[in-house]
Amino acid sequence: MRDMSNTAVEQKRQREMALVSEMIKLYCHKNHGTKEEELCPECNELLNYAQERSRRCPFMKTKTFCSNCKVHCYKPQMRERIRAVMRFSGPRMLWHHPLMVTWHVVSYHREKKRLSLK
Ligand SMILES: [Zn+2]
Repeated sequence: MRDMSNTAVEQKRQREMALVSEMIKLYCHKNHGTKEEELCPECNELLNYAQERSRRCPFMKTKTFCSNCKVHCYKPQMRERIRAVMRFSGPRMLWHHPLMVTWHVVSYHREKKRLSLK
């Protein structure tokens, strides 16, 4: 199997990060009363953590989205937090950023199919 090109990997990483940061932002605005580009310290920490994990992810090239991943590299405390964000913002993202979500869902299923064909 051929790996994705580096550009494609980078693009995927960027897009996943953009989606995650939108979700954290939405969560923070609605739950912690912040506005526009603002994040409270706690959510800011979570975002930095998520970006750091993504940068270091050894599977980005051959696999998958963090949400699709079997490894779960998040430490428990951060995992709880990111889960709360996903639960809250996931359904709302469809309303706020339908194109972004569509891209993510399509790639997710394409990837899943590819992985199960192996
Ligand atoms: Zn917050």
